[in-house]
Amino acid sequence: MKRHWITLIISLFVLIGLAIACAPNVFYKNSGVSVSTGTPGNGSIKNAYQIDYKTNNSKYFSPISYFLIGNSYVHSKLYYTILDSYEECEKTCQGIKFRIMECSLKKGGKTLIHRTHMNGLSVDFMVPKIKKGKQIIFYDRLGLWHYLLNFDSTGKLKINKNVNIDFETLAKHIIALDNSAKRNGLSISKVILKIDLKDDLFNTATGREIKRREIYFAKYLTKTIDMVHDDHYHVDFKINN
Ligand SMILES: [Zn+2]
Repeated sequence: MKRHWITLIISLFVLIGLAIACAPNVFYKNSGVSVSTGTPGNGSIKNAYQIDYKTNNSKYFSPISYFLIGNSYVHSKLYYTILDSYEECEKTCQGIKFRIMECSLKKGGKTLIHRTHMNGLSVDFMVPKIKKGKQIIFYDRLGLWHYLLNFDSTGKLKINKNVNIDFETLAKHIIALDNSAKRNGLSISKVILKIDLKDDLFNTATGREIKRREIYFAKYLTKTIDMVHDDHYHVDFKINN
């Protein structure tokens, strides 16, 4: 009986602790204009905007990352850019559900698993996946574990070869981001995608438009950086003067 009470009290304290830790990210309100300082690799942000957890066709990928760690903040211009891009995708990628992965902390600076993402102008987007010509969202629900998924050089998921990266949809989202960035005073400064996967992307109809627009993709990556950019594409933005 005594042990039962101890367990109950500990659980209660854990719950209260979690509630206190999550509260600032549950009740946050976006307002005003953000100010980014420095670079994605060494910077910070003031008055960041919190990404919407859900829109008509997109969702943040992990409640732990969103509410507990608070890695879901971006510059106000990027906030509107992302919303606009998903709105465009409602027309260009009908029926597709997108997932947004880690952004920046509320004040920027170093995060746990990223070397950049420091000034609110970097975002990770989950690769859309396809199986037998239809979107498959089963693996999109892995939360933070999604970062551990591996794909081969043609975009096949290693643990299920019937699942492939949907390169055409991925390309359409990058074009939507490029369009909406321009409308919101930003531009894409760099996209990071595993080097081996870039030819598959550029070979799609919309991939050729990415090439034509000369959107910059990282050309050389260290082995570790290359290895982890298969389940998501990282996009850095810069503010236009
Ligand atoms: Zn990233």
